[in-house]
Amino acid sequence: MIIHQRPKHLSKPISLSHQEKINWMRRLLSKAILIGKRGEVPIAAIILDKKGRCIGYGGNVRETLKDPLGHAELVALRQAAWINNDWRFNDCTLIVNLEPCPMCAGALIQARMGRVIYGSKDTKRGALGGTMNLAEHKSAHHKMLIEGGLMEEESSKIILDWFKDKRVNSRVNLLSKLR
Ligand SMILES: [Zn+2]
Repeated sequence: MIIHQRPKHLSKPISLSHQEKINWMRRLLSKAILIGKRGEVPIAAIILDKKGRCIGYGGNVRETLKDPLGHAELVALRQAAWINNDWRFNDCTLIVNLEPCPMCAGALIQARMGRVIYGSKDTKRGALGGTMNLAEHKSAHHKMLIEGGLMEEESSKIILDWFKDKRVNSRVNLLSKLR
């Protein structure tokens, strides 16, 4: 029997209801909090295939692995590529709690990610609308669907609280050294 499959570059990412997106983001935010407790910036990402199955998960491991490439999105991409046995992601969706940085946005374009959904906008380093939009840059040969600002308030609170705690802890450490 011959099964004719729609070529991957013509397949579309699965459509998700608002509630389904919220459910995934809630899971990511609880993972992000755990990642923050390990001393990493609290960021987590997942990749869903065209049937909505999670094929990749990544948490920020930059400090743990001393790896400048250890961003959540890249960790998830590597895992999903291995599971998918393909580097193309036209029919997949990546969800992450913070807008991707230029490195990750570039990797997502290279990987031809079908859709990116992110929580908090990043007006300092975001590269999918926050400071610039690499997906719309003339060098981008692939058009990604981008949905930013899902659970924006909750997402940014987790990151702001983490940086606030870090500042307080480093001040306490400094004071204890001075004593
Ligand atoms: Zn990044």
